[in-house]
Amino acid sequence: MLRQVIVTAMLAVPSLLPAQARPQSVVSSGAAPSTARVPNELGRFPIVEWHQVVAADGTYKVSRERFRAELRELHARGYVPVNLSELLDKTINVPAGKTPVLFTFDDASPSQFRYIERNGTLVVDPTSAVGMLLDFIKVHPDWKPKGLFCALPAAEAGHAFFGDKGIDGQKTAWRFPKLRFLVQQGFELCNHTLWHAKLSKYSDAVVQEQLARAAMAIDSAVPGYRVRGLALPYGLWPKNRALAFNGAWYDKRSKRDVRYRHEAVFEVSGGPARSPYDPAFDARSLPRVPLQGGTKLSNTLDQMDKPGKWARFVSDGNPKTVVTP
Ligand SMILES: [Zn+2]
Repeated sequence: MLRQVIVTAMLAVPSLLPAQARPQSVVSSGAAPSTARVPNELGRFPIVEWHQVVAADGTYKVSRERFRAELRELHARGYVPVNLSELLDKTINVPAGKTPVLFTFDDASPSQFRYIERNGTLVVDPTSAVGMLLDFIKVHPDWKPKGLFCALPAAEAGHAFFGDKGIDGQKTAWRFPKLRFLVQQGFELCNHTLWHAKLSKYSDAVVQEQLARAAMAIDSAVPGYRVRGLALPYGLWPKNRALAFNGAWYDKRSKRDVRYRHEAVFEVSGGPARSPYDPAFDARSLPRVPLQGGTKLSNTLDQMDKPGKWARFVSDGNPKTVVTP
């Protein structure tokens, strides 16, 4: 089998890559062992979506055992976590033969990130998703702390930056430190509205207030943080779709316009996503693979191991080239 090695200045003209790309050299993959995955950087990758990580599977819930098993399965099958910024900037850098995966965590519940107080020190609860993921990375150092937390600043029942008012033992004062901790670790934050508003039913003004105030809350926790993505609550678009990407809201308190700009918008389902190097890649409508009761990660991964439209992205190990079979 022949495969093309395309060398190009990707960073300079990412959107023009496919039209401008010219094969620079052609190499044979005949010598590769039969078990090696053939590079295919125009294949698909999964954007997995977790909500609550709790005692048992259910709607918007996976059990802690299942969450750990899903991490193990992704790792064993050659997936490596990446961040949204690497997709948007087209700087994916995963080893040869591996496939990127973007983790997304919606709704900011304590089940995702719980602190416990031990002798006056805050430690990450090892039974919360962040604790489990960081523990997994400790014993699998080829993974780094990457993934996207689509946080709600002000929803009810503890869905306010991972818990407040004593819900699930979480103090209100811990909310901002949690966001800062995530960013320091290497994770990223995304908008999910102020309190999980169904954007389809509101006026343009309310849509912009929901998105701008959520961005402002993240900025209060992590000053200067650039929010690049929005996860649509329930996958519902505002009537005026453009407002999902850009908008502004006047803050009477600070007497200024608070602006937001989302380069990426996440749907709630749709299967594995196209490669960022695929000309049809559209960050403004990114499909996801929801993991909850009734869904099974291995079904999606099995599909991606077969030839066809969901065939998986396989890296050639060189971030400067885009290799196709
Ligand atoms: Zn949500």
